[in-house]
Amino acid sequence: MAQGEFALIAQYFQRPVRRAVLGVGDDCALLAPQPGMQLAISSDMLVQGRHFFADVDPRTLGHKALAVNLSDLAASGAQPLAFTLALALPAVDAPWLQGFSEGMFALADAHGCELVGGDTTQGPLNICITVFGEVPAGQALLRSGAQPGDDIYVSGHLGDARLALKALLGHVQLPAAALAAARQRLESPSPRVALGTALRGIASSALDLSDGLVGDLGHILQASAVGAELQADQVLACMAATAGSSATALPLPIDLQLQCCLAGGDDYELCFTAAADRRGAVQQASLAANTPVQRIGRITAEPGLRVRDAQGQAMAQRWASFDHFAS
Ligand code: ADP
Ligand code: MG
Repeated sequence: MAQGEFALIAQYFQRPVRRAVLGVGDDCALLAPQPGMQLAISSDMLVQGRHFFADVDPRTLGHKALAVNLSDLAASGAQPLAFTLALALPAVDAPWLQGFSEGMFALADAHGCELVGGDTTQGPLNICITVFGEVPAGQALLRSGAQPGDDIYVSGHLGDARLALKALLGHVQLPAAALAAARQRLESPSPRVALGTALRGIASSALDLSDGLVGDLGHILQASAVGAELQADQVLACMAATAGSSATALPLPIDLQLQCCLAGGDDYELCFTAAADRRGAVQQASLAANTPVQRIGRITAEPGLRVRDAQGQAMAQRWASFDHFAS
């Protein structure tokens, strides 16, 4: 982008540095990690038409682009430090840039995570953020530590983002208030950073849920060489749309609820495991982080993943996760 590129960066993305040694404006940013800490690094790209609708509010898009990245730091138990933003824009659209940068910086400031650099180019709308966090050496939460007998937990709510997507695509009808609440979960996920750091030394494994519980939990099972059993009723209890008092809860078909919770995607909650004798410590971490957690099953030595109904019967159906390259 020739004309206006540097003015655009200065106007919307350059702010005084806080913790970084050097921020936007030079060839590289400079960070100084604290002694004894490891850097945790992750990138996530959002592509129009793939990850968001063209007409989405730029403020929520700015929030979400950073939120999905912070969610990866949370899953590693890392504290956010800084991020870079690589942006392709079809044109310089001032109101759009204003909204996008405000949404992004509001979340960045809430987590003390500063924008230290990036790249800006003309092209189809595409947003790639790389986040940098820090975690005490050796204490990062990994996918590989789950042990047979461990409990499996998820934070917050499952399935509501997928329910919103189905409603926006016209596949299900929702009352306006329910759609608004579910849409909030789709467009403005809350990265569970406080919970992730509180789970250091407690969780035996962790990841964040982006593609759907069954598929994402499968990554823990594979990395840890274990299997799992999930309790369908406990999983369904995580869906906000159907929870609560019977007066406000939505009467949704059980198959739809299961599909949204088990294979929904876009949840950006943490899924983690912990030894059964750490239940008290998990509850303490949940309280300290002000983030609810729900126990949904347990790790087994037997490989594979089984979903059991309230009567303990294995449910036959398979729930595929979202895969960008699946046919
Ligand atoms: P270079 O030519 O060295 O790659 P650029 O000309 O692309 O640098 O960018 C100039 C400065 O602006 C660099 O410090 C870069 O990190 C920063 N920058 C570019 N785009 C963004 C953006 N979208 N957000 C934040 N910083 C940006
Ligand atoms: Mg350069």
